[in-house]
Formats: sequence, C-alpha cells, structure tokens
Amino acid sequence: MQDIISRQRAHFDTSATKPVSFRIEQLHRLKRVLEQHEGALQEAIAADYGKQRYETFITELLPVYSEIDAAIANVAAWSTPSLVASSPFTSPGRCYVMPEPLGVSLVIGPWNYPVQLTLVPAVAALAAGCTVVLKPSEMTAHTSAVIASLVAAAFDPAYLTVVEGGVSETSALLAQKFDMIFFTGSVAVGRIVYQAAAKSLTPVVLELGGKSPTIVAPDANLPLAARRIAWAKFLNAGQTCIAPDYVYVHRSIYEEFLDAVAKEIASSRYGLENQNFVRIVNARNLERVAALIDQRKVFTGGLVDVDQRMIAPTVLRDVDWSDRVMGEEVFGPVLPTLVYDDIEDVVSQIKQRDKPLALYLFTEDAGTKRKILSELSFGGGAINDAVVQVTNGDLPFGGVGTSGIGSYHGEAGFRSFSHYKSIVDRDAVTTAEEQQFRYSPYNDDDLEI
Ligand code: NAD
Repeated sequence: MQDIISRQRAHFDTSATKPVSFRIEQLHRLKRVLEQHEGALQEAIAADYGKQRYETFITELLPVYSEIDAAIANVAAWSTPSLVASSPFTSPGRCYVMPEPLGVSLVIGPWNYPVQLTLVPAVAALAAGCTVVLKPSEMTAHTSAVIASLVAAAFDPAYLTVVEGGVSETSALLAQKFDMIFFTGSVAVGRIVYQAAAKSLTPVVLELGGKSPTIVAPDANLPLAARRIAWAKFLNAGQTCIAPDYVYVHRSIYEEFLDAVAKEIASSRYGLENQNFVRIVNARNLERVAALIDQRKVFTGGLVDVDQRMIAPTVLRDVDWSDRVMGEEVFGPVLPTLVYDDIEDVVSQIKQRDKPLALYLFTEDAGTKRKILSELSFGGGAINDAVVQVTNGDLPFGGVGTSGIGSYHGEAGFRSFSHYKSIVDRDAVTTAEEQQFRYSPYNDDDLEI
C-alpha cells in the first residue's frame, strides 16, 4: 500500500496531472476502455447478482458515461480561476479563487452499484487533477476484478490504480495518508473511515445510507405514484441507497394505493418467476432482508427463494414504528407501508429520526410541497417521482447528518476533490488612500473620515 501511495504522490508532485488538456485526455481514455470492456462488466455484474444487461446499462454504465461527457465538456470552465470584488485592503489589485487538485485520493465503493459508485467519484477526481486509488467492494468480486483489469490495461498505477479486497485491505489503505477520501457505503463503516481520516485531518466525502421516507398525500395521482414508487423500490431488487425505504399513505387512499402497487408489480413482472429480477447480493443479506418480513403483514409477495437468492417484491401493510422492518435500512425488495391521518404526525415522526438520504412526496398541492420541503431536512429528493434526482448531474448528490457529508456529481464532484485557493494579486504600488488608512502611525482623527 505504502509503495502505491508514494508512487502516486511522487507522480502528483510532478504536476503532470494538472493541465486541463491532460485531464480531458485521461477522461476520454477512461470512456474508451469502459466501452471496450462493456460486455465483460455486464457479464461480471450478472455473475455477481443476476442483473440483466439492459438494467446494467441504464443504472451502471450510462451514469459513468454521462459524468465523463459532462466533465470533458466543463472541466476547463470548472478549473478557471474566478474573480471576486476587491476590498479596501486589496485595492488596487485582483482577487480570485483558484481551484487546485487536493492530491492523492482514495475512493472506496460499495457493492450495490459496483461500477458507477466506484467510477463516478473517480471521474470527479481525475477531472479535478488528482491521482486515484480505487477500492471496489469485495462482495461483487467479479465486477471488482474486471474494474481492476480494465484500469490496469489503460492507466499508469502511479496515476490511477485499483486495490482489490475487503476489510483488511481497506483498513491497510486507511492507515496511509491520503489527501482526500471518498467513501460510499454503510453508516457504520462511514464512522470507521471518518475516524481514520481524522488522524491526518484528511478531508472526506461520506455517501452513506439510512431510511428514506416516501409520502403519498390524499390528492396524489395514484396510478402514477404506484408506478414510480414500485420502479424506484424494485429496481436492483431494492438494493439502492436512495430507494423509498417505506411509504406513508393517507388513510383516505390507503387501500387504493396498495391495490395500485400490487397491480404495478404484476404488470412490470418484478418477481421470482422473472429471471431478470435482480438477486440479493449474498446469503447473509438474503437472511437479513427475509427476517424483516412479518408474514402477518404481507399484502403481496413475501416469498423467499434461498437457492436463487431471490425475494419476491413484497408490500407490508399497516406497519408501525415498533415493527422490526422500521428498525433498520431495508435495502431489499420489501416495502413497508404506514397509514397517516395528519401530515403533522408524519413530519414529527421523520424529525425524530436520523436525517434521511432521500425523501419523496407525491402530491400536487403547493402547500404540502412547501411544508415538507421547508420543515424536513434530507439529502435530496423528488416530488411526484423517486430516485431520478440522481440522474441529473447538475444536482449535487449527497446526504446530511448521518446520511452523509459532502456531495458529488458534475461540478459538485469536481469541487469535492479540489481546494479553492484564495489569491490577492496586488498592483505593486501604494495609493495615497492606502498610505493614510492602512499604515502606522495611526491617528484617531482619521476615524472621522
Ligand atoms: P459497507 O459499508 O459494508 O461497505 C462499503 C465498503 O467499505 C466496501 O468497499 C467494503 O470493503 C468496505 N468495508 C466494509 N467493512 C469495512 C471495515 N470494517 N473497515 C474498512 N472498510 C470496510 O456497505 P455496502 O454493504 O457495500 O453498501 C450498502 C450500504 O451503502 C447501505 O447502507 C447503502 O445505503 C449505502 N450506500 C450509500 C450510497 C450513497 O450514495 N449515499 C450508495 C450506495 C450505497
């Protein structure tokens, strides 16, 4: 580990990674090598957890390509120093803010979108001019191996490299001194990363998890709400950090909503008989998610196929906060639904808990939108949709409170891997005003000026 990092540091110190033309060239190179290995990545993800090629393309490859294209188009503008107004002490002269790459960075990825959650932060790091050590998740080992080999085929390890492995390799990496650490994963491991970074005061971005609420108000367009919530929940078999974790539905439309979601599950053919429905990543997680299903509360689904590592899309009804499923992030295809009468109760329940990574609201009522957006704190979200906020690179993506620190995507990612250096470039002259107000000897009469 030490050798990898000292080689990257030596390379960074040559300033070779800084010219914008170099960064653009490397981003093109990354896109080319990904395109060449697209088939291998799709096969690896299918081998890791049964995800089919089309879903892999739209949820894994497309986001990386879009980020690369946006970085290529904008990196020159992002890295241009920006002028700010001068103050009395800095006139005459120019004041500006100059982005510079933080240096040697570490990106630690989770298993649930093993390509995009490792490579989108890497794109931001390369665009900012950093060198990068990538550590993909060991739980999606086939994908990790393909990422390692495609990176090794195209890049000098002193610039961009992959370290494969699990807890011990990540711990060894965290014992080294980096200039920036970007971590995506669970809250528990996020704390470990933050503590390790604190030792050397290394800046971090932590993209963590939690329970993301969804609220369906009485005036919501129900078929649309059901369709979009089911899509957002059962995509990747619910193993999405910003998936609707649970849904609060107004009592007046509760039964109708449940029927609409069940209809949506049937028509979208999410389920065990559909070989394209994504598997649960491993036996341990299958067991964990299955244990969250209270069979007495199953409205639809509830079946678990241990051999195939599949859980049927499951909707739980009349759930309350004392149920086990409300005690942790579900991270699987199980949707608890809760009934509400008064939106104040929903707001109060959400406020009592950790700030969520995402929140979704289905309503066309301006007052309800205003209330939820102004009273509740969460990473980001959508109104009358779910999950799609992640697809617009101009929207910074990140959590707040225990759901994360910092953000990325588009310019936000570039900023996270940059330091903004403030510079005053003075004219080498002294004006009469400066002579009078700045330099000693001071005269109390000058307070009158
Ligand atoms: P995880 O925290 O178990 O693992 C993430 C990474 O940390 C992996 O690379 C793993 O090897 C490493 N790791 C695990 N234990 C470690 C330890 N003790 N010390 C050092 N490194 C360790 O997370 P996961 O199971 O891969 O992902 C699921 C979690 O990630 C969920 O909570 C989900 O909400 C969250 N998540 C968040 C986002 C986001 O963008 N905010 C995206 C995806 C997933």
